[in-house]
Amino acid sequence: MALCPPCGGAMTPDIKGIFSRIEGYKDEIIGLQKELTSRIAIGPKNGGTGEYEKARYLRERLGDLKPEFLEEIKASDEQAEGGYRPNLLAGWGGEGTGSRVWVLSHMDIVPPGDLSLWQSDPYKITVEGDRIIGRGVLDNHQGIISSYLSLKAILEFGLRPVRPVGLAFVADEETGSAFGLEYILSHHRDFFKESDLIVVPDGGNEEGTMIEIAEKSMLWLRFTVLGKQCHASMPDRGKNSLVGASRLIVALDRLKETFSKKDGLFRPEYSTLEPTKIEANVGNINTIPGKDVFYLDCRILPHYGVDQVLEEAGKIAAEVGAEIGMSIEVEEVYRQENSNPTPVDAPVVRALSSAIKLVTGKDASPRGIGGGTVAAFFRKAGLPAAVWMTSPDCAHQPNEYCHISNVISDAKIFACLYMDHVDGN
Ligand SMILES: [Zn+2]
Repeated sequence: MALCPPCGGAMTPDIKGIFSRIEGYKDEIIGLQKELTSRIAIGPKNGGTGEYEKARYLRERLGDLKPEFLEEIKASDEQAEGGYRPNLLAGWGGEGTGSRVWVLSHMDIVPPGDLSLWQSDPYKITVEGDRIIGRGVLDNHQGIISSYLSLKAILEFGLRPVRPVGLAFVADEETGSAFGLEYILSHHRDFFKESDLIVVPDGGNEEGTMIEIAEKSMLWLRFTVLGKQCHASMPDRGKNSLVGASRLIVALDRLKETFSKKDGLFRPEYSTLEPTKIEANVGNINTIPGKDVFYLDCRILPHYGVDQVLEEAGKIAAEVGAEIGMSIEVEEVYRQENSNPTPVDAPVVRALSSAIKLVTGKDASPRGIGGGTVAAFFRKAGLPAAVWMTSPDCAHQPNEYCHISNVISDAKIFACLYMDHVDGN
């Protein structure tokens, strides 16, 4: 048996009873997956109509558990069904007065992509042993279902959670969160407190041991190199912008030396500064191009400011431009500054680690990633959040699947958090 710090190695009868209830939820998991998957929630930016139907269904399920509050925050979006994007926040009081455990999952999904790559209809689940296959079953129904069923188990067992619990089912995670978490935090920030334990089950590893607490800052840059177009047989009459762009790409490698700090929390442990896309230039082989455009994708450790990288890239571009006698324009295409990581010893990290150890016997560790999770909005608002779930690497792919056994074990881990059955202090 895994060692449980609060009970010294033996699980209490309450926890045992809750766990065995959760273990009996296989049919419920399949049933919920079926209902959620059939209610297609694709955002208008991805060609869908939003989360209206799915939210209506989930609102009823939350109501079944008799919450103390159940709010629907509507972010108006004319392109969506109903004219808004729904965000559901429900809360249950706890036995004690501890901080609230919030679990935030998202209702929207990404489109299925090329249907010929799917073995069956992406909106009708299929069950193969421990696997459920369908669009959204992992991303993010697993989070919705595990956080919900674990509370249901506690209530059905005749108990109340020890900590107050909050479940948030939000819109628009897949297309930027402007109608989802970002909207909630800018209009209803007071639902959350800094002392709350905020978990976002929307990313993790197969073993369930990765607790993501920090992200690199993101910066996308566009470089436009302007030379002079001419016939390829008379190169002296023009200025070859492709040669200029190549010189610049090689010179930009110096950024890696300037921003060379390492941080073992992150994978990889250094900032990444990579040239990626290059736009098409001339249409034929016998013309020397006069304009070339390429991009740099920068994922910057929180040790550096995004502006430092921007400034340094500008200097290199000016230097190369002077050397080759071409004008080079540097533009910022996208930035997300992530300067506020969740501390490695934050209560949510310690509580999760302890619950993971109890349920699976495994040692979890906090990690930083390359950027792009919804938890960044919490952190920016000064709310320490952790991204965690037990997850195969198949989100957004054809034949997306989840393991029923992972839903069950994640639900047990949430139950430990709700029952404060953790060594988090
Ligand atoms: Zn997701």
